[in-house]
Amino acid sequence: MQPSEHGQHGFGTLAVHAGSPHDPVTGAVIESTDESDQISLSTTYAQTAVGQPVGAYEYTRSSNPNRDNFENCIAALEKAKYALAFSSGSATTAIILQSLATGSHVVSVSDVYGGTHRYFTKVAKAHGVHVTFTPSIELDVEALIKPETKLVWIETPSNPTLSLVDISAVAEIAHKHGILVVVDNTFMSPYIQNPLSHGADIVVHSVTKYINGHSDVLMGVAAFNSDDLKERLGFLQNAIGAVPGAFDCWLAHRGVKTLHLRAREASKNGKMVAEALAASPLVRAVNYPGLDSHPQRKIALKQHRDGLGGGMLSFRIAGGKAAAERFCAATKIFTLAESLGGVESLVELPASMTHMGIPKEQREAAGVFDDLVRISCGVEEGEDLVKDVMAALKKVAGESNGTATNGNGTA
Ligand SMILES: *Cc1c(COP(=O)(O)O)cnc(C)c1O
Repeated sequence: MQPSEHGQHGFGTLAVHAGSPHDPVTGAVIESTDESDQISLSTTYAQTAVGQPVGAYEYTRSSNPNRDNFENCIAALEKAKYALAFSSGSATTAIILQSLATGSHVVSVSDVYGGTHRYFTKVAKAHGVHVTFTPSIELDVEALIKPETKLVWIETPSNPTLSLVDISAVAEIAHKHGILVVVDNTFMSPYIQNPLSHGADIVVHSVTKYINGHSDVLMGVAAFNSDDLKERLGFLQNAIGAVPGAFDCWLAHRGVKTLHLRAREASKNGKMVAEALAASPLVRAVNYPGLDSHPQRKIALKQHRDGLGGGMLSFRIAGGKAAAERFCAATKIFTLAESLGGVESLVELPASMTHMGIPKEQREAAGVFDDLVRISCGVEEGEDLVKDVMAALKKVAGESNGTATNGNGTA
């Protein structure tokens, strides 16, 4: 499918066909591993004369057919002119920050991915880029802008409290001052949310999560429309060299072909689990943007395809940290592990795992309490996931009651 045809097609058609030309020699529908070397593992490409490569490729860091195909697909799915792939989501963030001149200033939502927070506070500072964090960016952004502000960084929904940012409201203010807006869209995936359509200038993903979707590739991608960004970020992609390998690009490209199916199913499951949790007396609060009770449900309806809530949710369990820890050990289908967005369901305790590095007061101010459990719903049967969560809640409550009774008995 030619890029000029992309506009005529829906998401699922693009996911399957964008960046997936048939092999011109064999007609192979899928880039194969046969002797025609279509997973292009070669690091270098022959030249017929000095400076005249046989095809479009010279050296794999600069460009590679499998990376090109993957990038073309993501550009189509994010409604972008360009996409650039990197060796991880973190490398993508690093390269965008590296593209700023020394002395630049960034305004960011406070609730960013832990690794993003680490890069902003510990690495960007070392090359003279300073970041101001705000918990209420829609209200504060204008007041926080300085003459040297070059970037606004948004993550919506936030991790792990699933609060939302109105992208177009923030972009309108940033653009008045000539400032670029970046949105980390990892949690929603390009199926549910397309930040460029709401005024963002760059959308970034940890491909490791929903886009690859099978928990077996580490990769990142940035997509945008500006020729100037293509020039600057493309230069850094090659100059810094934090690029994904050909095989990983091939795997992630295969993964993304089912993104629409996986994202729909994960959202359906997320909603079923969120509703069951919200109705349970053993749960203190549920954070899920697909519920009408979510305080920013209106933003979800505006920004998310069909108002979908995605596969991620978090909840505060009754019984404190001990109950939260026991819950994570009690689920049978949900595996206790970090990460998200794969076909398999995962559970974790942010305060003790992904967000442990953030000081307790700061963490709790952002809603990350010791009893907060984060769930990534996979694509198993929703009924089974609900049963698993309910059984684990009941088991934890039973154990707590048992302990209390025994305690009383001996007192
Ligand atoms: C995982 C993640 C990242 C970092 O991506 P890696 O591929 O692990 O480097 C960035 N942002 C969000 C929201 C993530 O979940």
